[in-house]
Amino acid sequence: METGYEILVRGLVQGVGFRPFISRLALRHCLTGEVVNRSDGVRIVLKCDLASLKRFVDDIRTQAPPAANIKSIEFSRTDAGNYSEFTINSSLDEGDAITEVSPDIAVCHECLSDLADDPRRIDYPFVNCTNCGPRFTIIRALPYDRAATTMAPFRMCRPCASEYSDINDRRYHAQPVACNDCGPEYTLRSHGGEGEINGITAILRKIADRLAAGESVAVKSTGGYNLMCDALNETAVSDLRQRKQRDMKPFAVMFRDIVALREYCLTDDDEEDLLLSWRRPILILRQRKPLAPSVSSGLNTTGAMLPHMPLYHMLFGILQTPAVVLTSGNLSEEPIIISDTAALRDLLPLAGCVVSYNREINNRADDSVVRMGSGRTIMIRRSRGYTPQPVDLAEGAEGIFAAGAEQKNCFCIGKGRRAILSQYIGDIRNVATYDYYTETYGLFSSLFRFEPSDVACDMHPDYLPGRFAEELAGVKGLPLVRIQHHHAHAVSVMAEHQLAGKVIGVVMDGTGFGTDGNIWGSEFMIASATDFERYSHFEYFMMPGGDMAVYEPWRMALSCLFSCFGSHYDFTSLRLFRETDPVRLSTVMEMLVHRINAPLTCGAGRIFDAVSALLGLCARSSFDSEAPMRLESAVSGSTDDYYPFTVNGIVRLGDVFRELTVDIMRSEISYAVFCLQKKIAQVILSVCKSMRNDTGLNDVVLSGGVFQNRYLLEKSLYLLSMNRFSVYTNNQVPPNDGGISLGQLAVAAERRRLCV
Ligand code: ZN
Ligand code: ZN
Ligand code: FE
Repeated sequence: METGYEILVRGLVQGVGFRPFISRLALRHCLTGEVVNRSDGVRIVLKCDLASLKRFVDDIRTQAPPAANIKSIEFSRTDAGNYSEFTINSSLDEGDAITEVSPDIAVCHECLSDLADDPRRIDYPFVNCTNCGPRFTIIRALPYDRAATTMAPFRMCRPCASEYSDINDRRYHAQPVACNDCGPEYTLRSHGGEGEINGITAILRKIADRLAAGESVAVKSTGGYNLMCDALNETAVSDLRQRKQRDMKPFAVMFRDIVALREYCLTDDDEEDLLLSWRRPILILRQRKPLAPSVSSGLNTTGAMLPHMPLYHMLFGILQTPAVVLTSGNLSEEPIIISDTAALRDLLPLAGCVVSYNREINNRADDSVVRMGSGRTIMIRRSRGYTPQPVDLAEGAEGIFAAGAEQKNCFCIGKGRRAILSQYIGDIRNVATYDYYTETYGLFSSLFRFEPSDVACDMHPDYLPGRFAEELAGVKGLPLVRIQHHHAHAVSVMAEHQLAGKVIGVVMDGTGFGTDGNIWGSEFMIASATDFERYSHFEYFMMPGGDMAVYEPWRMALSCLFSCFGSHYDFTSLRLFRETDPVRLSTVMEMLVHRINAPLTCGAGRIFDAVSALLGLCARSSFDSEAPMRLESAVSGSTDDYYPFTVNGIVRLGDVFRELTVDIMRSEISYAVFCLQKKIAQVILSVCKSMRNDTGLNDVVLSGGVFQNRYLLEKSLYLLSMNRFSVYTNNQVPPNDGGISLGQLAVAAERRRLCV
């Protein structure tokens, strides 16, 4: 028997250049053996002794391709057989077929230097290699092979083909490999019969000229079309805002490089690492220096990112401005546009100029949005660069489909012990988004060979994803489980951290259907993966006009004060109500007095809305989460005060509003906001302590959209940790409704496993 070792590397290793890397490493170490695909990673067999094995494993750890995500490396002695060379083999076992697909990877440094040095790739904007390039967005089927991607129509030229088949080449088995002679190319089309421009140099020149003239451009990006304009030119930005009819929602900004970004945004080391990582998300950063005022609409943060496609790197090479607005190209509320036909129809009239390329985008992927707090990642929108990387689970979830929430929807499918979340789909309230949802379900089913056996959805009776789940379960005769919204939020954290047993669940959220028929959203629960017990929550307030109160935070303000002080309170002593149309004010007051069309809510998000309106920050919301964002933006300085509250079964907020109105009279907005956020964190600590006393539980999971508020999250983490709680948060999936489907899937899996 030859001395040999078997190494098992688990994690994301397909489509990221991992096997060629192993093969080159073996050559360098002069070792023979083989590397084989498996469903959970790769198996390597090496003919070697223990010392050389250790050197080899060290090199795997330190030199693996950037986008490979190694979860573990295990090794054991084996019979190494008679290898005379090192080979890459594919698994013969069908069941072992790899089902992982890499997310899209930002262009790497070596490819960027090819733009200047590689004769066949001088200024070639689709340069890529095994370490970088499009993946998820171009894939049609598995296994990941060029023929199964939207690169299929492009025939490799001879030099590309030889790179593709040379194991020592950086482009060995790089499926989208291409060069100036054989790959995709850009075309620019202008409004008004100027015709087409081809040739990358002329196209870049034209884009630069337009941006310099204060005009906008629609550009086909990795996962869909974007609209672009100069982020320092106020006229250009407000003009784009008007054309896009984009209310006040902040625009994302792409900076030339990290140096330019630092000039406008405050960053720490963790944030810079993420900005520069191959995922290249939009990161929410505090502002250092203002861009054009219309970019962020008065918020003190900027959604910043760095170039991820070669085109953007090349463009900044000739642009005067260090920063451009880059917002998704869509009609409001509809999915981001990916087809060239739709772009010419909808974006050309809007931007006046469309830059497209002749490779199809098969799968949409919006830019991902992330922020960081206390060194932890807070996902806000999970898409390009993250999808479809799975979340590893403690138990199997094969065959479970979890439909997700109505807003910020992502659905989730179970494959073995992995949960695969769809890309961000959006608010499923119109036909276009619903179609996107059903299409994507079809795509995920075929891509990951998913056959549903169990279906999970929210308890809300009217959610469209719930209807889809009902139909799916009905047609196939499958069991359907309905899961309470905030229970799913809490379990999403348990699933990410593989927590078993019971935990203290704290969910601070906007809206979610409760088991008592009211709208929940400030939940303190004793939660397990199968069930929950509601321990406490904020007091209920009326939502006059139902959903209208979400769009018009002044209604919540009126409701909270009405509930605390009654109808005889002098509402006109507050500026908010002096400035509100008296007719509407009295209509809403009628609703409150007679309890007509006023469902009850305890959502923490609604409390933030009410305070935001009272402080004059946001009486009417023009985009999702505007009120809490403006609230968070208003904080500066610090103080040790906070508003009092009482906990007696439920959390009473009367005193909060009493003191708040006093501060408002004194116009101490920043102080009031600070006290409120700190107060909520204090409430969380206090209720958690009493839960610990009653139950002996010490693990706390924090979830819900309100925890996107960085200050609230940091303060809660700090207070809980100081009091020796073990605190867990969402890191891989959003704490908002984008992460709900993971929790739904985990609940369904555990109930199935335990037959409850
Ligand atoms: Zn590369
Ligand atoms: Zn070529
Ligand atoms: Fe929620």
